[in-house]
Amino acid sequence: MKLKTKLQQLQKENKAILAANFYNLETCQGIVKAAKAVNQSIILQLTPASISYMGLKTAVAIARTVSQQENIVSWLHLDHCSEIDLIKSCLDEGFDSVMIDASDKSFDENLSITKKVVELAKSFDVNVEAELGYVSKPESDVEINKFTEPTDAKNFVLQTGVSSLAVAIGSKHGFYKGTPKLDIERLKQIKKLTDVFLVLHGASGIPSEMLQNAIHNGITKVNIATETKDQFMKSLKEIFQNSDEIDLRKIFPFAVNNVQKLIEEKIKIITTSN
Ligand SMILES: [Zn+2]
Repeated sequence: MKLKTKLQQLQKENKAILAANFYNLETCQGIVKAAKAVNQSIILQLTPASISYMGLKTAVAIARTVSQQENIVSWLHLDHCSEIDLIKSCLDEGFDSVMIDASDKSFDENLSITKKVVELAKSFDVNVEAELGYVSKPESDVEINKFTEPTDAKNFVLQTGVSSLAVAIGSKHGFYKGTPKLDIERLKQIKKLTDVFLVLHGASGIPSEMLQNAIHNGITKVNIATETKDQFMKSLKEIFQNSDEIDLRKIFPFAVNNVQKLIEEKIKIITTSN
């Protein structure tokens, strides 16, 4: 099944799918094993940084081979890409979905870059995600969130022809200081004015009920990244406090298992009403 078809089914029923970023073989294994354990399909995501770390062909092979080995359905998505050349390479590698992120640009620039990518991706018939408004990133100079204006979203979608839109409704990338608050009214407005799949970025650290409320009101794809990295590294640190073990094959499974537990929980939260 194509990802777009899956997203259409979910959107119709006010349901969502988890999109989890992976960083290496082990985090991919943890995520895929979790999907298998709860019998759900999943979107595996790669950022340009992760692609540069693993190499494009290796990263793609990891996602596909691990999914095949565990016998689960997964789709591959390019997350937060601002380089058209990399988007092209990923389309050529058979990605199911790509994100063009020009959210740090003006509305008009974002519109024109996104339009180009939609055009480029047309013959591949894949899901194209863009971001309107700005979901803050810890590594960026722009620290504040810029909430998505519903009427802007309507115009942006009509003019670009994107199939998915990442919306800024109060979430942010990285860790939260204090409890995050999602602007559900704004989400409802955006949902009313557009027919695209709405994506929530920065879902790490958002309380379960808030997440479910967002899904109930129109979010179809939920992205998780920070918590996975954190869980993996925390698990390794915990082991190395009391161990000098050098056989990584004895150490890594503990971290993989903890990533699996985390993602299983996330999938359960996200698919509770599925
Ligand atoms: Zn994101």
